[in-house]
Amino acid sequence: PVRTRIAPSPTGFLHLGTARTALYSWAYARHHGGEFVLRIEDTDVARSTQDSVDQILASMAWLGLQHDEGPIYQMQRLDRYQQVIDQMIAAGTAYRCYCSPEELDAMREAQKARGEKTRYDGRWRPAPGKVLPAIPDGVKPVVRFANPPDGVVTWDDLVKGPISISNTEIDDLIIQRPDGVPTYNFAVVVDDLDMRITHVFRGDEHINNTPWQINIWHAIAAGAPLPNYGHCPIILGDDGLKLSKRRGAVSVTAYEDAGYLPEGMLNYLARLGWSHGDDELFSLEQMVQWFDGSHLAKSPAQWDPAKLAWVNAQHLKAADDGRLAGLVVTQLAKRGIAAAADARLAAMCALFKDRCSTTLELTDWLAMYFAPVTPSDEERAAHLTDAIRPALATLVAQLDAAAWDKAGIAAAMKATLTQHGLKMPQLAMPVRVLVCGRAQTPSVDAVLALFDKKMVAERLQSF
Ligand code: GLU
Repeated sequence: PVRTRIAPSPTGFLHLGTARTALYSWAYARHHGGEFVLRIEDTDVARSTQDSVDQILASMAWLGLQHDEGPIYQMQRLDRYQQVIDQMIAAGTAYRCYCSPEELDAMREAQKARGEKTRYDGRWRPAPGKVLPAIPDGVKPVVRFANPPDGVVTWDDLVKGPISISNTEIDDLIIQRPDGVPTYNFAVVVDDLDMRITHVFRGDEHINNTPWQINIWHAIAAGAPLPNYGHCPIILGDDGLKLSKRRGAVSVTAYEDAGYLPEGMLNYLARLGWSHGDDELFSLEQMVQWFDGSHLAKSPAQWDPAKLAWVNAQHLKAADDGRLAGLVVTQLAKRGIAAAADARLAAMCALFKDRCSTTLELTDWLAMYFAPVTPSDEERAAHLTDAIRPALATLVAQLDAAAWDKAGIAAAMKATLTQHGLKMPQLAMPVRVLVCGRAQTPSVDAVLALFDKKMVAERLQSF
């Protein structure tokens, strides 16, 4: 069966690039009725934190990319890695190296001085008839992989096509540190093997690691079929440089906080490196149906905040109003405004969602229903003139007697216009400025109908 995984390192939040490969891995597994594994690669003990683990799990849950197995923590598998290391040492595919950091530095300097590429020179690598250096006192060894000295590593990348790298390009990699913790390139292989992973989608910064991983794979499990690797190009910022923290938001959490919907994020992320004809908008179900690992882009895609906003806006329009109300309640709470996700709030969402890209923008609109508004001086100057005072007074009286719904409010406005010989905008604009704090809103009767009646009267009388 198809088994995919996502294997984030808990050294920060869930990065957009990782979210994208998680989506591809998840969708590929779902497309084939397979399984998706979540693995936490926490062997960088100094930089891994529980806080980061929590954030990653929360972001995955928010996106809705549910795993079938895991989270599996590498630091809970140290015994297993030790067992494999011992087997490799016994088989001669790994060996202990006692070089001190100073010795390795000297080795590199000498190679540089000779104009050679720097690489571990294999001085502790056993060979028939070779006399190894004397084991120094008090030095804890690392374990190195005995990489094949020649030959070519080849794989057919799901994204990039055939790739070949000569073994003369790579040296004997450290697979276990002196403290016994394995390194990434080793642990990833043991895990992909033990977890029977069939397809690996990951960022193309790992392309250079793949030859080591393939060699280690063959050393551990000669004959076991390799996973299929697909290396997705990095995501570029809108300045054409690698998307990074310095150049804007790169965490999934930041977009959640900014009021994007998970389905909007996933839709946009999916298209950033994959296509299905001309389809720009699709649901997660459609993605699962369509995503078969083909049509993955070979070249980097550029992060386009405007396009993300557009895609999210389309999903927002289609979203259930009750659900949006719940999201707005959370956003309002962050502003110290308590509101209930009731039918009235859902109706507000329905009225305003068409003009918003995010639930944050929606909240910007809906806050006027719950908290005081402060129109700008320009809006006040443009729309609040002494000439309008009598009409506003009439409107207050008309509204007080009106049925509090769209039709009742429309009738009260109409009666006021007739009495004062005004045209609709002459009254509607000042009303909007006073009640909503801005002059542009959807149809004023519909907007007012969702207000508390008393609140409208108070705001109209505040001028
Ligand atoms: N822990 C690695 C990372 O976060 C995983 C790479 C892989 O998927 O093999 O980049």
